[in-house]
Amino acid sequence: MADGKQAASNIRNRKRNRIYKGVLLTAGLISIALVSMAAYNVRTAVAPQLASGETELAVPIPKAAVELRMTDLDHGWVRYEDAIEVAGVKRSYTEITTDGGLSWKAAPSAAGASASTSAPAGTGAGTAAGTPSATPDPWADLWAPPAQPQLTTLMIASKTYKVKQAQFLTSAIGWAIVESDSAEPLPPLVTVDGGKTWQKEATPDVRQALEAEKKRRSTVQLEAQLYENAQAARQAMSSSWKLFPATAYIGDAVLVRHDGPGEVAWQGAAYKLQPYGAGYFTYLPVSLSVKPGTYTIGDQVLTIKSKKFETQYLQVTQEMEAMKQDTARILADQKKIDAARSKSAPEFLFDSEFIKPIEGILTTPYGYTRYVNNKYDSSHLALDLAAKQGTPIKATNDGIVVLAETLYLTGNAIYIDHGMGLFSQYAHMLQLNVKTGDKVKKGDIIGLVGTTGFSTGPHLHFTFWMHNVQANPDIFFGTNPFRWQSSK
Ligand SMILES: [Zn+2]
Repeated sequence: MADGKQAASNIRNRKRNRIYKGVLLTAGLISIALVSMAAYNVRTAVAPQLASGETELAVPIPKAAVELRMTDLDHGWVRYEDAIEVAGVKRSYTEITTDGGLSWKAAPSAAGASASTSAPAGTGAGTAAGTPSATPDPWADLWAPPAQPQLTTLMIASKTYKVKQAQFLTSAIGWAIVESDSAEPLPPLVTVDGGKTWQKEATPDVRQALEAEKKRRSTVQLEAQLYENAQAARQAMSSSWKLFPATAYIGDAVLVRHDGPGEVAWQGAAYKLQPYGAGYFTYLPVSLSVKPGTYTIGDQVLTIKSKKFETQYLQVTQEMEAMKQDTARILADQKKIDAARSKSAPEFLFDSEFIKPIEGILTTPYGYTRYVNNKYDSSHLALDLAAKQGTPIKATNDGIVVLAETLYLTGNAIYIDHGMGLFSQYAHMLQLNVKTGDKVKKGDIIGLVGTTGFSTGPHLHFTFWMHNVQANPDIFFGTNPFRWQSSK
């Protein structure tokens, strides 16, 4: 097709494309791709006809790339202009890419041949000229653009071109449009080595680099979703070591993040850092016996503060008191519990904040020193929440049931693995609604409040465990370990 005819055809198709516009504005991303193919077919299938009053031009009209914008590793647009002015504005053509610039096609909207400088619909270009974004990236803050190299020229096929505009999304991966002397401008060029070499085609190197970066980003995103927001995620991920929190009370817990594998020495034990997302993690239990003070973890300082716990005196029947003397049964149960808690999923199984399993009345807070019939019993490292018999009990967060059994002291009891060594425990239940091996979602009703085992009335005994040490449930509710802040 001659260029003059092409120009005339474009004007016609512009009118046709307007018809599609209404449909397109409401269409989702997938349909945009389909409709754009349809628009393309219209463009090529219709024989060019000159509208009355339009003159066929004898010389080709040079087109030039004038603006480029990559909105993410997949999506972007490039705008071309030619010399013809419509109502005093140069005619422009927009092409979009959905594969990181490996291929370009006409934008599926009227913007494809308009004098508008705004981004075409469906490119995710939310910031360009106020066009609403089709796919706003909630993690945009994670991918801070690298320092943009000041490029004036680039070489391709041993020819030097003047750079009109370049955009880098990483320090290695960038795109550029160049000044060209031919009528058909070069498509946007891509580099995956920081601008040393440029390609106009999808070479295996380019494909590989784009794929590797996308994989890296999905790994980062997997971890990022656990933080308060993208900014907090970025801050944590750019640190060599990070403690959540840096100041903790005895009875609480700390989540450690490091940017590489290794171990953390803590209270005479070595805790292995396990990979997840873009980092390596371990929980550190802070038992009541940890000495308050400061400790070095990696390049960070962990401050442990002391806390006073109150004393509680419990009176039980002689019969109940005698229960605690059946050490054989207690040890047999402990074996089961230890086995259930010996393995944990090698990933964080939750992606949101933890919830209280029941509302209920707090009858024994965490850490109370408990005397039973005036004899020292233990520190109560759990919450006792009293509620009516039969009150439904919710899973505090997503996880896998590793034990759901009737035990001697804790009655009908459940342990849920939340991954990376963290477990929640529910005891004295009237009824178990789940069995060992079940996957549960946060809020699932796993059982009912009861008074089975060593219990003086209907209540839920609830706590967390990590590395065989209990952790204060109060630090979990309404948040998650990635959001643990130092208490003031
Ligand atoms: Zn209790």
